[in-house]
Amino acid sequence: MRRTARCACGDAFITVEGEPSQYGICHCSNCRRRTGSAFGLSAYFPKAAVIERGGAMNEFAFHHATFNHDQCRHFCVRCGTTLIWTISTMPDLIGIAAGCFTDPPLGTPSYSTSHSQCLEWVEVPAGINKGG
Ligand SMILES: [Zn+2]
Ligand SMILES: [Zn+2]
Repeated sequence: MRRTARCACGDAFITVEGEPSQYGICHCSNCRRRTGSAFGLSAYFPKAAVIERGGAMNEFAFHHATFNHDQCRHFCVRCGTTLIWTISTMPDLIGIAAGCFTDPPLGTPSYSTSHSQCLEWVEVPAGINKGG
């Protein structure tokens, strides 16, 4: 299946083919702050699965001390949505903000990481692997 993730204003997009290599939620403070939400919902696709991407995006690169890796985030210059990112320890994958897939959305994520930091009111379904 071919899916397109779009930023909030619709200008920036990325289209990928197939299913994600990794797809999960993360409760770490980094993901919560990036999204402004209770957890991050991230899909990692092989870079080779990217069909097309477009729209004007800026980049923000930094070293993530907790995970000891470098991240580069690409965000829409018009609306600020962080649409995609790369992580130095996963050079063949591209991270996509999975909530940006709306038509059609992705299915149920397979894992819940940094789960020890899960907010007390968040309930993760039994079928999702929990760790970290
Ligand atoms: Zn935008
Ligand atoms: Zn995280």
